[in-house]
Amino acid sequence: MDIEEFRIHAHTFSDWMADYLASVEQYPVRSQVKPGEISAHIPVECPVQGEPMEAIFADFKEKILPGVTHWQHPRFFAYFSANSSPPSVLAEMLTATLAAQCMLWETSPAATELEERMMVWLRDLLGLPSEFIGSIQDSASASTLCGIIAACEKATSGKASREGLAGGPPLIVYASEEAHSSVEKGARIAGIGSKNVRKIPVRNDHGMDPEALAGAIAEDRAAGRIPACIVACFGATGLGSVDPLAEIGRIARAEDIHLHVDAAWAGSALILPEVRATLAGLEYVDSFVFNPHKWLFTNFDCSAFYMRDPSRLASALSLTPTYLESDTDEGTPEYRDWSIALGRRFRALKLWFVMRSYGAEEMRKMVRAHIQWTQHLAGLISDTQHFEIATEPRFALLTFRFTPEWASSDDEIDAVNEELLRRINDSGRLYLTKTRANGRIVIRFVIGQTYTKLRHVEEGWACIQELARQIPNPGHDASSLR
Ligand code: PLP
Repeated sequence: MDIEEFRIHAHTFSDWMADYLASVEQYPVRSQVKPGEISAHIPVECPVQGEPMEAIFADFKEKILPGVTHWQHPRFFAYFSANSSPPSVLAEMLTATLAAQCMLWETSPAATELEERMMVWLRDLLGLPSEFIGSIQDSASASTLCGIIAACEKATSGKASREGLAGGPPLIVYASEEAHSSVEKGARIAGIGSKNVRKIPVRNDHGMDPEALAGAIAEDRAAGRIPACIVACFGATGLGSVDPLAEIGRIARAEDIHLHVDAAWAGSALILPEVRATLAGLEYVDSFVFNPHKWLFTNFDCSAFYMRDPSRLASALSLTPTYLESDTDEGTPEYRDWSIALGRRFRALKLWFVMRSYGAEEMRKMVRAHIQWTQHLAGLISDTQHFEIATEPRFALLTFRFTPEWASSDDEIDAVNEELLRRINDSGRLYLTKTRANGRIVIRFVIGQTYTKLRHVEEGWACIQELARQIPNPGHDASSLR
Protein backbone atom coordinates (compact mmCIF):
# COMPACT_ATOMS: atom_id res chain seq x y z
CA MET A 1 0.00 0.00 0.00
CA ASP A 2 1.47 3.35 -0.95
CA ILE A 3 0.86 6.51 1.04
CA GLU A 4 -1.82 7.85 -1.32
CA GLU A 5 -3.79 4.63 -0.95
CA PHE A 6 -3.27 4.87 2.80
CA ARG A 7 -4.80 8.37 2.73
CA ILE A 8 -7.93 7.11 0.95
CA HIS A 9 -8.39 4.16 3.30
CA ALA A 10 -7.76 6.31 6.36
CA HIS A 11 -10.63 8.58 5.30
CA THR A 12 -12.91 5.59 4.79
CA PHE A 13 -11.92 4.17 8.15
CA SER A 14 -12.43 7.41 10.03
CA ASP A 15 -15.93 7.66 8.56
CA TRP A 16 -16.61 4.12 9.71
CA MET A 17 -15.24 4.93 13.18
CA ALA A 18 -17.58 7.90 13.56
CA ASP A 19 -20.54 5.83 12.30
CA TYR A 20 -19.65 3.04 14.70
CA LEU A 21 -19.54 5.33 17.73
CA ALA A 22 -22.77 7.00 16.67
CA SER A 23 -24.57 3.67 16.32
CA VAL A 24 -22.79 1.38 18.80
CA GLU A 25 -26.03 1.09 20.77
CA GLN A 26 -27.46 -1.08 18.00
CA TYR A 27 -24.99 -3.90 18.55
CA PRO A 28 -25.47 -6.66 21.14
CA VAL A 29 -23.28 -5.55 24.05
CA ARG A 30 -21.67 -8.92 24.69
CA SER A 31 -20.67 -10.79 21.57
CA GLN A 32 -23.17 -13.56 20.88
CA VAL A 33 -20.84 -15.94 19.02
CA LYS A 34 -19.97 -19.46 20.18
CA PRO A 35 -16.38 -20.61 20.74
CA GLY A 36 -14.64 -21.35 17.43
CA GLU A 37 -17.16 -19.43 15.35
CA ILE A 38 -14.73 -16.64 14.46
CA SER A 39 -11.64 -18.76 13.88
CA ALA A 40 -13.71 -20.93 11.50
CA HIS A 41 -13.75 -17.90 9.18
CA ILE A 42 -10.00 -17.28 9.28
CA PRO A 43 -7.76 -19.25 6.90
CA VAL A 44 -5.20 -21.38 8.69
CA GLU A 45 -2.32 -19.97 6.64
CA CYS A 46 -1.04 -16.53 5.78
CA PRO A 47 -1.95 -15.50 2.21
CA VAL A 48 0.88 -15.85 -0.30
CA GLN A 49 -0.17 -12.78 -2.27
CA GLY A 50 -1.28 -9.48 -0.75
CA GLU A 51 -4.99 -8.71 -0.78
CA PRO A 52 -6.79 -5.41 -1.42
CA MET A 53 -7.69 -3.36 1.66
CA GLU A 54 -11.34 -3.25 0.53
CA ALA A 55 -11.51 -7.04 0.93
CA ILE A 56 -9.78 -6.99 4.30
CA PHE A 57 -12.04 -4.24 5.60
CA ALA A 58 -15.15 -6.04 4.35
CA ASP A 59 -14.01 -9.17 6.22
CA PHE A 60 -13.41 -7.09 9.35
CA LYS A 61 -17.02 -5.93 9.29
CA GLU A 62 -18.50 -9.28 8.34
CA LYS A 63 -16.29 -11.83 10.08
CA ILE A 64 -14.61 -10.06 12.99
CA LEU A 65 -17.15 -7.57 14.29
CA PRO A 66 -19.69 -10.22 15.36
CA GLY A 67 -17.01 -11.59 17.66
CA VAL A 68 -16.41 -8.26 19.37
CA THR A 69 -17.92 -7.36 22.72
CA HIS A 70 -18.75 -3.69 22.54
CA TRP A 71 -16.99 -2.08 25.47
CA GLN A 72 -17.98 1.38 24.24
CA HIS A 73 -21.68 0.45 24.29
CA PRO A 74 -23.67 2.75 26.60
CA ARG A 75 -25.27 -0.29 28.27
CA PHE A 76 -21.94 -1.87 29.14
CA PHE A 77 -22.20 -2.21 32.92
CA ALA A 78 -19.96 -5.27 33.36
CA TYR A 79 -16.52 -5.67 35.00
CA PHE A 80 -15.24 -2.08 35.11
CA SER A 81 -15.59 0.01 32.00
CA ALA A 82 -12.55 0.38 29.78
CA ASN A 83 -13.81 3.70 28.62
CA SER A 84 -12.47 5.76 25.78
CA SER A 85 -13.47 9.03 24.14
CA PRO A 86 -13.23 10.74 20.76
CA PRO A 87 -10.17 12.87 21.71
CA SER A 88 -8.44 9.77 23.04
CA VAL A 89 -9.10 7.84 19.83
CA LEU A 90 -7.78 10.74 17.76
CA ALA A 91 -4.58 10.76 19.81
CA GLU A 92 -4.25 6.99 19.40
CA MET A 93 -4.41 7.48 15.62
CA LEU A 94 -1.46 9.84 15.85
CA THR A 95 0.41 7.54 18.23
CA ALA A 96 -0.05 4.62 15.84
CA THR A 97 1.12 6.75 12.94
CA LEU A 98 4.23 8.01 14.72
CA ALA A 99 4.85 4.48 16.05
CA ALA A 100 7.66 5.78 18.21
CA GLN A 101 9.46 3.57 20.72
CA CYS A 102 9.65 5.78 23.77
CA MET A 103 12.01 3.76 25.94
CA LEU A 104 14.64 6.49 26.43
CA TRP A 105 14.38 10.25 26.51
CA GLU A 106 16.51 10.30 23.36
CA THR A 107 14.23 7.94 21.42
CA SER A 108 11.42 10.52 21.69
CA PRO A 109 12.06 13.44 24.02
CA ALA A 110 8.46 14.65 23.67
CA ALA A 111 7.15 11.33 24.99
CA THR A 112 9.22 11.46 28.17
CA GLU A 113 8.64 15.14 28.81
CA LEU A 114 4.91 15.02 28.11
CA GLU A 115 4.61 11.91 30.32
CA GLU A 116 6.33 13.73 33.17
CA ARG A 117 3.96 16.67 32.83
CA MET A 118 0.81 14.54 32.44
CA MET A 119 1.70 12.62 35.59
CA VAL A 120 1.88 15.94 37.43
CA TRP A 121 -1.46 17.08 35.99
CA LEU A 122 -3.11 13.82 37.06
CA ARG A 123 -1.43 13.76 40.47
CA ASP A 124 -2.70 17.25 41.22
CA LEU A 125 -6.16 16.54 39.81
CA LEU A 126 -6.48 13.58 42.20
CA GLY A 127 -4.96 15.48 45.12
CA LEU A 128 -2.13 12.97 45.57
CA PRO A 129 0.93 14.02 47.61
CA SER A 130 3.18 16.43 45.74
CA GLU A 131 6.21 14.17 46.35
CA PHE A 132 4.66 11.40 44.20
CA ILE A 133 6.50 10.84 40.93
CA GLY A 134 4.56 9.08 38.22
CA SER A 135 5.01 7.00 35.10
CA ILE A 136 2.55 5.44 32.69
CA GLN A 137 2.42 1.66 32.72
CA ASP A 138 0.40 -0.63 30.50
CA SER A 139 -1.79 -2.01 33.30
CA ALA A 140 -2.54 -1.93 37.00
CA SER A 141 -1.18 -5.48 37.13
CA ALA A 142 2.22 -4.29 35.89
CA SER A 143 2.09 -1.28 38.23
CA THR A 144 1.35 -3.48 41.24
CA LEU A 145 4.16 -5.81 40.19
CA CYS A 146 6.48 -2.78 40.10
CA GLY A 147 5.25 -1.79 43.57
CA ILE A 148 6.02 -5.30 44.85
CA ILE A 149 9.46 -5.27 43.21
CA ALA A 150 10.26 -1.95 44.88
CA ALA A 151 9.03 -3.41 48.18
CA CYS A 152 11.34 -6.43 47.81
CA GLU A 153 14.29 -4.10 47.16
CA LYS A 154 13.51 -2.20 50.32
CA ALA A 155 12.94 -5.30 52.45
CA THR A 156 16.21 -6.92 51.34
CA SER A 157 18.32 -3.75 51.00
CA GLY A 158 18.72 -4.43 47.30
CA LYS A 159 19.62 -8.12 47.56
CA ALA A 160 16.38 -9.26 45.89
CA SER A 161 17.44 -7.98 42.47
CA ARG A 162 21.13 -8.85 42.83
CA GLU A 163 21.05 -12.25 44.52
CA GLY A 164 17.44 -13.39 44.11
CA LEU A 165 15.14 -14.54 46.88
CA ALA A 166 16.24 -18.18 47.06
CA GLY A 167 17.92 -19.18 50.29
CA GLY A 168 16.77 -16.10 52.24
CA PRO A 169 13.84 -15.85 54.62
CA PRO A 170 10.51 -15.68 52.76
CA LEU A 171 9.19 -12.21 51.91
CA ILE A 172 5.51 -11.70 52.68
CA VAL A 173 2.84 -9.66 50.87
CA TYR A 174 -0.40 -8.69 52.65
CA ALA A 175 -3.67 -7.79 50.93
CA SER A 176 -7.34 -8.15 51.82
CA GLU A 177 -9.51 -11.07 50.77
CA GLU A 178 -11.16 -8.63 48.36
CA ALA A 179 -7.90 -7.59 46.64
CA HIS A 180 -7.57 -8.12 42.90
CA SER A 181 -5.86 -11.29 41.68
CA SER A 182 -3.09 -9.13 40.17
CA VAL A 183 -1.59 -8.83 43.68
CA GLU A 184 -1.06 -12.57 43.98
CA LYS A 185 0.07 -12.76 40.36
CA GLY A 186 2.60 -9.99 41.03
CA ALA A 187 3.87 -11.90 44.06
CA ARG A 188 4.30 -15.02 41.93
CA ILE A 189 6.17 -13.15 39.21
CA ALA A 190 8.41 -11.40 41.75
CA GLY A 191 9.42 -14.82 43.08
CA ILE A 192 7.56 -14.45 46.38
CA GLY A 193 5.03 -17.18 45.64
CA SER A 194 1.33 -17.51 46.40
CA LYS A 195 2.17 -19.28 49.66
CA ASN A 196 3.60 -16.02 50.98
CA VAL A 197 0.60 -13.86 50.15
CA ARG A 198 -1.54 -13.31 53.25
CA LYS A 199 -5.20 -12.71 52.44
CA ILE A 200 -6.31 -10.64 55.39
CA PRO A 201 -9.96 -10.99 56.46
CA VAL A 202 -12.31 -8.09 55.92
CA ARG A 203 -14.72 -6.30 58.22
CA ASN A 204 -18.45 -5.89 57.63
CA ASP A 205 -17.81 -3.12 55.10
CA HIS A 206 -15.55 -5.52 53.14
CA GLY A 207 -12.50 -3.36 53.91
CA MET A 208 -9.37 -4.99 55.35
CA ASP A 209 -9.36 -5.62 59.10
CA PRO A 210 -6.27 -3.75 60.40
CA GLU A 211 -6.15 -5.83 63.58
CA ALA A 212 -5.96 -9.01 61.56
CA LEU A 213 -3.22 -7.39 59.46
CA ALA A 214 -1.19 -6.48 62.54
CA GLY A 215 -1.65 -10.02 63.87
CA ALA A 216 -0.48 -11.61 60.62
CA ILE A 217 2.60 -9.36 60.51
CA ALA A 218 3.50 -10.23 64.10
CA GLU A 219 3.12 -13.94 63.38
CA ASP A 220 5.36 -13.72 60.32
CA ARG A 221 8.04 -11.77 62.14
CA ALA A 222 7.99 -14.27 65.02
CA ALA A 223 8.56 -17.07 62.49
CA GLY A 224 11.53 -15.26 60.93
CA ARG A 225 9.74 -14.24 57.74
CA ILE A 226 10.09 -10.70 56.33
CA PRO A 227 6.93 -8.62 55.85
CA ALA A 228 7.71 -6.81 52.60
CA CYS A 229 4.59 -5.21 51.16
CA ILE A 230 1.04 -4.29 52.12
CA VAL A 231 -1.42 -3.70 49.29
CA ALA A 232 -4.47 -1.64 50.23
CA CYS A 233 -7.55 -1.40 48.00
CA PHE A 234 -9.30 1.80 47.10
CA GLY A 235 -12.29 0.40 45.21
CA ALA A 236 -11.76 -3.38 45.13
CA THR A 237 -12.99 -5.18 42.05
CA GLY A 238 -15.84 -7.28 43.40
CA LEU A 239 -17.78 -4.83 45.57
CA GLY A 240 -15.79 -1.59 45.28
CA SER A 241 -14.68 -1.81 48.90
CA VAL A 242 -12.15 0.55 50.42
CA ASP A 243 -9.54 -0.56 52.94
CA PRO A 244 -9.00 1.73 55.96
CA LEU A 245 -5.88 3.37 54.59
CA ALA A 246 -4.96 5.55 57.57
CA GLU A 247 -5.07 2.61 60.00
CA ILE A 248 -3.20 0.36 57.60
CA GLY A 249 -0.74 3.18 56.91
CA ARG A 250 0.11 3.58 60.59
CA ILE A 251 0.88 -0.13 60.77
CA ALA A 252 3.02 0.06 57.62
CA ARG A 253 4.91 3.05 59.02
CA ALA A 254 5.50 1.44 62.44
CA GLU A 255 6.65 -1.80 60.82
CA ASP A 256 8.61 -0.06 58.03
CA ILE A 257 6.76 -2.00 55.31
CA HIS A 258 6.19 -0.70 51.76
CA LEU A 259 2.55 0.36 51.32
CA HIS A 260 1.08 0.10 47.83
CA VAL A 261 -2.45 1.28 46.98
CA ASP A 262 -4.47 -0.39 44.23
CA ALA A 263 -6.97 2.24 43.13
CA ALA A 264 -7.14 0.87 39.58
CA TRP A 265 -10.79 1.75 39.08
CA ALA A 266 -11.92 4.13 41.83
CA GLY A 267 -8.79 6.29 41.72
CA SER A 268 -10.42 8.29 38.92
CA ALA A 269 -13.18 9.35 41.33
CA LEU A 270 -10.54 11.23 43.34
CA ILE A 271 -10.84 14.04 40.79
CA LEU A 272 -13.99 14.90 42.77
CA PRO A 273 -13.19 16.98 45.85
CA GLU A 274 -16.03 15.28 47.75
CA VAL A 275 -14.44 11.85 47.15
CA ARG A 276 -10.92 13.10 47.83
CA ALA A 277 -12.13 14.38 51.19
CA THR A 278 -13.05 10.82 52.21
CA LEU A 279 -9.55 9.44 51.70
CA ALA A 280 -7.19 9.78 54.65
CA GLY A 281 -3.77 8.19 54.99
CA LEU A 282 -2.07 9.02 51.70
CA GLU A 283 0.91 10.31 53.66
CA TYR A 284 1.83 6.69 54.48
CA VAL A 285 1.67 5.46 50.89
CA ASP A 286 4.82 4.45 49.01
CA SER A 287 3.24 3.59 45.67
CA PHE A 288 -0.19 4.09 44.13
CA VAL A 289 -1.83 2.98 40.90
CA PHE A 290 -4.98 3.99 39.10
CA ASN A 291 -6.11 3.43 35.53
CA PRO A 292 -7.27 6.37 33.43
CA HIS A 293 -8.07 3.58 30.95
CA LYS A 294 -10.89 2.45 33.22
CA TRP A 295 -12.82 5.56 34.17
CA LEU A 296 -11.07 8.64 32.82
CA PHE A 297 -12.04 8.51 29.14
CA THR A 298 -8.63 7.37 27.93
CA ASN A 299 -8.05 4.32 25.76
CA PHE A 300 -6.44 1.21 27.15
CA ASP A 301 -3.52 1.07 27.85
CA CYS A 302 -2.93 3.85 30.33
CA SER A 303 -2.18 3.03 33.95
CA ALA A 304 -0.83 5.85 36.13
CA PHE A 305 1.72 4.53 38.63
CA TYR A 306 3.11 6.80 41.35
CA MET A 307 6.02 6.23 43.68
CA ARG A 308 7.33 8.27 46.55
CA ASP A 309 10.86 7.09 45.81
CA PRO A 310 11.38 5.69 42.30
CA SER A 311 15.05 4.95 43.01
CA ARG A 312 14.26 1.54 44.56
CA LEU A 313 12.41 0.37 41.49
CA ALA A 314 15.04 1.87 39.20
CA SER A 315 17.77 0.13 41.13
CA ALA A 316 15.94 -3.19 40.69
CA LEU A 317 15.19 -2.78 36.98
CA SER A 318 18.01 -0.68 35.56
CA LEU A 319 20.43 -2.45 33.24
CA THR A 320 22.37 -0.47 30.67
CA PRO A 321 24.08 -2.46 27.95
CA THR A 322 26.17 -0.38 25.54
CA TYR A 323 23.40 -0.31 22.94
CA LEU A 324 21.13 1.53 25.38
CA GLU A 325 23.63 4.10 26.57
CA SER A 326 22.50 7.66 25.95
CA ASP A 327 23.21 11.12 27.30
CA THR A 328 20.34 12.53 29.30
CA ASP A 329 20.09 15.27 31.86
CA GLU A 330 20.45 14.11 35.46
CA GLY A 331 16.89 15.09 36.37
CA THR A 332 15.17 13.44 33.38
CA PRO A 333 13.68 10.04 34.08
CA GLU A 334 14.56 7.10 31.88
CA TYR A 335 11.19 5.37 32.08
CA ARG A 336 12.60 2.06 30.83
CA ASP A 337 14.10 1.74 34.34
CA TRP A 338 10.63 2.02 35.88
CA SER A 339 8.87 -0.58 33.71
CA ILE A 340 8.99 -4.31 33.07
CA ALA A 341 9.27 -3.96 29.29
CA LEU A 342 11.96 -1.93 27.59
CA GLY A 343 9.75 -0.72 24.73
CA ARG A 344 7.15 1.92 25.55
CA ARG A 345 4.27 3.42 23.56
CA PHE A 346 3.68 7.17 23.43
CA ARG A 347 0.80 6.92 25.90
CA ALA A 348 1.02 10.42 27.33
CA LEU A 349 -0.35 11.86 24.10
CA LYS A 350 -3.86 10.52 24.61
CA LEU A 351 -3.94 11.77 28.19
CA TRP A 352 -2.92 15.21 26.98
CA PHE A 353 -5.67 15.19 24.35
CA VAL A 354 -8.30 13.98 26.82
CA MET A 355 -7.46 16.39 29.63
CA ARG A 356 -7.20 19.37 27.30
CA SER A 357 -10.27 18.50 25.32
CA TYR A 358 -12.59 17.96 28.32
CA GLY A 359 -10.90 20.04 30.98
CA ALA A 360 -11.09 19.12 34.66
CA GLU A 361 -14.63 20.45 35.16
CA GLU A 362 -16.22 18.36 32.41
CA MET A 363 -14.43 15.21 33.55
CA ARG A 364 -15.67 15.85 37.08
CA LYS A 365 -19.20 16.35 35.77
CA MET A 366 -19.12 13.01 33.94
CA VAL A 367 -17.69 10.97 36.82
CA ARG A 368 -20.04 12.67 39.30
CA ALA A 369 -23.01 11.81 37.08
CA HIS A 370 -22.01 8.13 37.04
CA ILE A 371 -21.95 8.12 40.83
CA GLN A 372 -25.31 9.89 41.07
CA TRP A 373 -26.95 7.52 38.60
CA THR A 374 -25.72 4.59 40.68
CA GLN A 375 -27.49 6.07 43.71
CA HIS A 376 -30.60 6.58 41.59
CA LEU A 377 -30.47 2.96 40.41
CA ALA A 378 -30.07 1.79 44.02
CA GLY A 379 -33.32 3.61 44.82
CA LEU A 380 -35.12 1.91 41.92
CA ILE A 381 -33.88 -1.52 42.97
CA SER A 382 -34.82 -1.00 46.62
CA ASP A 383 -38.32 0.04 45.59
CA THR A 384 -38.89 -3.10 43.53
CA GLN A 385 -40.46 -6.19 44.98
CA HIS A 386 -38.32 -9.34 44.85
CA PHE A 387 -35.10 -7.44 44.29
CA GLU A 388 -32.67 -6.41 46.99
CA ILE A 389 -29.51 -4.36 47.16
CA ALA A 390 -26.74 -6.74 48.22
CA THR A 391 -24.07 -4.09 48.70
CA GLU A 392 -24.76 -0.36 48.72
CA PRO A 393 -23.28 1.86 45.98
CA ARG A 394 -19.53 2.30 46.28
CA PHE A 395 -18.61 5.07 43.89
CA ALA A 396 -20.41 3.85 40.74
CA LEU A 397 -20.76 0.15 41.60
CA LEU A 398 -23.57 -1.62 43.38
CA THR A 399 -24.59 -5.24 43.65
CA PHE A 400 -28.08 -6.67 43.82
CA ARG A 401 -29.97 -9.94 44.01
CA PHE A 402 -33.23 -11.17 42.55
CA THR A 403 -35.16 -12.92 45.31
CA PRO A 404 -38.37 -14.40 43.87
CA GLU A 405 -40.79 -15.62 46.48
CA TRP A 406 -40.49 -19.23 45.27
CA ALA A 407 -36.73 -19.36 45.90
CA SER A 408 -36.37 -20.01 49.60
CA SER A 409 -32.82 -21.20 50.26
CA ASP A 410 -29.63 -19.22 49.61
CA ASP A 411 -28.49 -21.88 47.15
CA GLU A 412 -31.71 -21.54 45.20
CA ILE A 413 -31.36 -17.76 45.12
CA ASP A 414 -27.77 -18.15 43.90
CA ALA A 415 -28.97 -20.39 41.06
CA VAL A 416 -31.73 -17.94 40.12
CA ASN A 417 -29.26 -15.07 39.94
CA GLU A 418 -26.84 -17.10 37.81
CA GLU A 419 -29.74 -17.85 35.50
CA LEU A 420 -30.84 -14.21 35.39
CA LEU A 421 -27.31 -13.13 34.54
CA ARG A 422 -27.13 -15.67 31.71
CA ARG A 423 -30.41 -14.40 30.30
CA ILE A 424 -29.31 -10.76 30.59
CA ASN A 425 -26.05 -11.30 28.76
CA ASP A 426 -27.57 -13.62 26.16
CA SER A 427 -30.11 -10.88 25.41
CA GLY A 428 -27.34 -8.57 24.19
CA ARG A 429 -29.28 -5.62 25.60
CA LEU A 430 -26.93 -4.93 28.48
CA TYR A 431 -23.88 -6.60 29.94
CA LEU A 432 -23.37 -7.38 33.64
CA THR A 433 -21.04 -9.59 35.67
CA LYS A 434 -21.26 -11.29 39.04
CA THR A 435 -19.26 -11.66 42.21
CA ARG A 436 -19.80 -13.00 45.71
CA ALA A 437 -20.79 -10.95 48.75
CA ASN A 438 -20.70 -12.73 52.10
CA GLY A 439 -20.40 -15.98 50.21
CA ARG A 440 -23.49 -15.51 48.03
CA ILE A 441 -23.79 -14.79 44.30
CA VAL A 442 -24.63 -11.15 43.56
CA ILE A 443 -24.92 -9.26 40.30
CA ARG A 444 -22.66 -6.24 39.83
CA PHE A 445 -23.84 -3.08 38.07
CA VAL A 446 -21.07 -0.59 37.25
CA ILE A 447 -21.70 2.74 35.54
CA GLY A 448 -18.70 4.34 33.88
CA GLN A 449 -19.05 4.17 30.14
CA THR A 450 -18.35 7.47 28.36
CA TYR A 451 -21.50 7.27 26.22
CA THR A 452 -23.87 6.14 28.97
CA LYS A 453 -26.76 8.46 29.81
CA LEU A 454 -29.30 8.09 32.60
CA ARG A 455 -31.79 6.63 30.13
CA HIS A 456 -29.41 3.71 29.42
CA VAL A 457 -29.28 2.90 33.12
CA GLU A 458 -33.06 2.98 33.33
CA GLU A 459 -33.43 0.91 30.15
CA GLY A 460 -30.97 -1.59 31.59
CA TRP A 461 -32.93 -1.82 34.83
CA ALA A 462 -36.24 -2.28 32.93
CA CYS A 463 -34.63 -5.08 30.92
CA ILE A 464 -33.40 -6.82 34.08
CA GLN A 465 -36.90 -6.82 35.57
CA GLU A 466 -38.46 -8.04 32.35
CA LEU A 467 -36.00 -10.93 32.06
CA ALA A 468 -36.34 -11.79 35.75
CA ARG A 469 -40.10 -12.13 35.36
CA GLN A 470 -39.57 -14.65 32.58
CA ILE A 471 -37.60 -17.05 34.77
CA PRO A 472 -39.96 -19.92 35.50
CA ASN A 473 -40.45 -21.28 38.97
CA PRO A 474 -38.44 -24.53 38.93
CA GLY A 475 -41.06 -26.02 41.25
CA HIS A 476 -43.26 -26.05 38.16
CA ASP A 477 -40.52 -26.82 35.66
CA ALA A 478 -37.45 -28.41 37.23
CA SER A 479 -35.44 -28.26 33.98
CA SER A 480 -35.65 -24.49 33.69
CA LEU A 481 -32.65 -23.67 35.89
CA ARG A 482 -29.40 -25.03 34.58
N1 PLP B 1 -6.88 -3.84 40.39
C1 PLP B 1 -8.21 -3.70 40.40
C2 PLP B 1 -8.90 -3.17 41.63
C3 PLP B 1 -8.96 -4.03 39.27
O1 PLP B 1 -10.28 -3.92 39.28
C4 PLP B 1 -8.29 -4.50 38.11
C5 PLP B 1 -9.04 -4.85 36.90
O2 PLP B 1 -10.21 -4.66 36.79
C6 PLP B 1 -6.90 -4.63 38.16
C7 PLP B 1 -6.24 -4.31 39.31
C8 PLP B 1 -6.13 -5.11 36.97
O3 PLP B 1 -6.15 -4.10 36.01
P1 PLP B 1 -5.30 -4.20 34.67
O4 PLP B 1 -6.17 -4.88 33.68
O5 PLP B 1 -5.00 -2.78 34.31
O6 PLP B 1 -4.07 -4.98 34.97
